[in-house]
Amino acid sequence: MFTKKLLLDMDTGVDDALAIAYAVGCGAEIAGITCGFGNVETAEAVRNTLDLLSLLGRPEVPVFAGDAGPDGQPFRVSEACRKIHGENGIGNVSLPHHGKPSLLPAHRFILDAARKEGDALVIVCTGTLHNLARAILEDREAVAKAHSIVFMGGALTVAGNVTPYAEANIANDPEAAKIVLESGLPMTMVGLDVTLKHRLTRETAGRWADCGHVGGIFSEIAGYYIDNESDRGSCALHDPLAVAAAIEPGLLVTHPFAMTAITDGEAAGRTVARSYPEECRVKNVRAALESDPGFSGRLDQVLRGLFKTLG
Ligand code: CA
Repeated sequence: MFTKKLLLDMDTGVDDALAIAYAVGCGAEIAGITCGFGNVETAEAVRNTLDLLSLLGRPEVPVFAGDAGPDGQPFRVSEACRKIHGENGIGNVSLPHHGKPSLLPAHRFILDAARKEGDALVIVCTGTLHNLARAILEDREAVAKAHSIVFMGGALTVAGNVTPYAEANIANDPEAAKIVLESGLPMTMVGLDVTLKHRLTRETAGRWADCGHVGGIFSEIAGYYIDNESDRGSCALHDPLAVAAAIEPGLLVTHPFAMTAITDGEAAGRTVARSYPEECRVKNVRAALESDPGFSGRLDQVLRGLFKTLG
């Protein structure tokens, strides 16, 4: 049984939405959700997160906004991303608006939660690493109090998904990724090496519509993503796998590396294992290279159970 508290840091698009539902469906306690730019603009991520939490019966979970962009300028969401996640980030499905974000900036909440919860807190990032990098720059030792850090991002043994080198979450803020990876803090990387292997099919998502009103909405959100992410009739479960691995680390087989992110040039956004001995003293990143092939079935089971409960 999972007895820790999750702090989710998200750029709430479709697979973040599935990840929130998975955490709720597992009965995990959620200390708060911090939001940032990436799949959508930060303000849209906040709005989607608030609306989804309300839909899922968890309106009490506090939501925090991070910066609007990596360098003080508003982030521009790519056309490709708008196509995959929809104009509003959740498959163009309109949800009733509920609640407001807390006034505390996202990185400050990460620091407060780590200081307060300490070993009870698991931080899971499924967008850029911008908010976590700001928290580390402000007070690394406070972040170090958390039990663990899991992030969805990067590609070590496979090609990227926005360039041949780079995965989207790292590509959207490579400098933040470099700060986090080189921080020496222990963390687990859930990259494309494993997430691409777990697929949600149109058929499975379609059946959620039989599980009540909320299931119907998630069926529509996921269906949009499946139709636009690729032509395979299925989508990769990137963010849900990271949240699931935070709850159940046994889902992954990981290997330790000293890692960094390339921040400029053609390979910007690439996550690499460092090779010089003086850079490799601290192998703080456990990169997932294998994962439980039964995860997509487990996700379907957890979400169906949740949707039936919510009606
Ligand atoms: Ca995401």
